[in-house]
Amino acid sequence: MEKKNYKIYIVGAGISGLIAAQILENFGYHPIILEKSESAGGRVKTKVVDGHRLDIGFQVLLEAYPKAKEYLDLEKLNLQAYKPGASIYLDCKWQNIGDPLRSFDLLIPTLFNTGGSIADKWKVFQLSNHLKSKSIESIFQEEELTTYDYLIKYGFSEKIIQCFFQPFFSGIFLEDKLETSSRMFQFIYKMFSEGKTSVPKDGIGAIPLQLKENLKHTQFKFNTSVKSVEDQKIILENGETIESHFTIIATEASDLVSNLKNQATDWRSCDTLYFLTEENFLSTDLIGLLPHQDALINNFVFVKDAKAKELGKHLLSVTVVKKHKLSSENLVKRIQKELKNYLSIQKANFLKHYYIPRSLPKLTHTAYEIMDTETQLTPSIYLAGDQLLNGSLNAAMMSGERAALGVIKSLEDGLVVNELTSEYR
Ligand SMILES: Cc1cc2nc3c(=O)[nH]c(=O)nc-3n(C[C@H](O)[C@H](O)[C@H](O)COP(=O)(O)OP(=O)(O)OC[C@H]3O[C@@H](n4cnc5c(N)ncnc54)[C@H](O)[C@@H]3O)c2cc1C
Repeated sequence: MEKKNYKIYIVGAGISGLIAAQILENFGYHPIILEKSESAGGRVKTKVVDGHRLDIGFQVLLEAYPKAKEYLDLEKLNLQAYKPGASIYLDCKWQNIGDPLRSFDLLIPTLFNTGGSIADKWKVFQLSNHLKSKSIESIFQEEELTTYDYLIKYGFSEKIIQCFFQPFFSGIFLEDKLETSSRMFQFIYKMFSEGKTSVPKDGIGAIPLQLKENLKHTQFKFNTSVKSVEDQKIILENGETIESHFTIIATEASDLVSNLKNQATDWRSCDTLYFLTEENFLSTDLIGLLPHQDALINNFVFVKDAKAKELGKHLLSVTVVKKHKLSSENLVKRIQKELKNYLSIQKANFLKHYYIPRSLPKLTHTAYEIMDTETQLTPSIYLAGDQLLNGSLNAAMMSGERAALGVIKSLEDGLVVNELTSEYR
């Protein structure tokens, strides 16, 4: 059979599904992606609301991610980098902390910042050097502690943990107890130390857009929700049955495969709210952190936005990580109050609220990579998605690559593929 005639379906047009399609194309296959929403990107999307470009959830690309360097044309993404540091609310005032080796203007504020002792600040640099010299593979072979226990073991004081690590990494891990694996902490810290932290000029959604544009022989079926997947068979929510030689499930598979039902992933959630403000509290290249036990705001950024500029205003993105039971309306009021109290922003006009229930997988065991053979669930079903490894764009890309290579290996190692019956066509 000609390669292009194999029916290889991918469930999900998130980052892992798009990379799986790219690998299959590279080897001459013509996959078909079934995606329940109306567009590609999964958790990486940007929407235009009233002329403003809003990312659905604040997220950044760590340019040092090995898989980002491999699969993305970073130059074409027109990346806007954040300064390697943050502005933190400490002792009732805003103070900047950062890596002065990479952004010299952060040197003086970092040394005088009251969030940690000189010894702590020295350890911040030491840790960065230590992790730069450590391979990613060895990080992921280490014993898994919680990030909090790792920081204590490394010798950081409770003060710098509460003032810097906790708010900074809460915004990344989307949990506020630093219970995420120390492997993940070391990996992310290493990536922060080795490259820029950026967002494409056109929003985070430019990443899947670029991946999709690179696909020349992949068919997309949007608004197509898969109900279940069996060997060589896909059943859609609309009742239709599709035959497939191979299926890559590039999303949570426990929803789709009957014998995985009791292996559902737990997920971390978050809220992102957008406001238009009169005041610009911070420059657009710095992330603000609010480590206050009574505040719901975890982090915020002023986003470069042409429409806001045209209106003479500023676009503010606020992320809430803490669990709360507020309605959307009450959450907006609460955040407006916090903006007034902590940021002295008197008028924040609410624009949009996104609640993202499945933001990051909550994993007890994290890994960096997976062998292609390990992605195989049944003779014809393969798995991909960040939940297999760790919650990151790098992991999503890695998993998509490995699942596609698994399928290709099966085919090219001379596997006899069952002829599809015409029963379902
Ligand atoms: C708020 C937030 C902040 C983040 N911050 C960062 C960050 O700063 N840096 C970083 O590296 N990563 C970050 N991430 C994580 C990163 O976005 C994910 O790791 C990555 O996007 C996961 O891609 P995926 O392909 O594995 O899954 P998904 O993006 O979830 O893709 C799965 C796709 O499958 C589709 N699908 C699901 N079920 C079905 C079905 N039954 N039928 C058809 N289609 C289906 C979905 O619609 C979706 O398009 C963040 C994520 C969020 C939400």
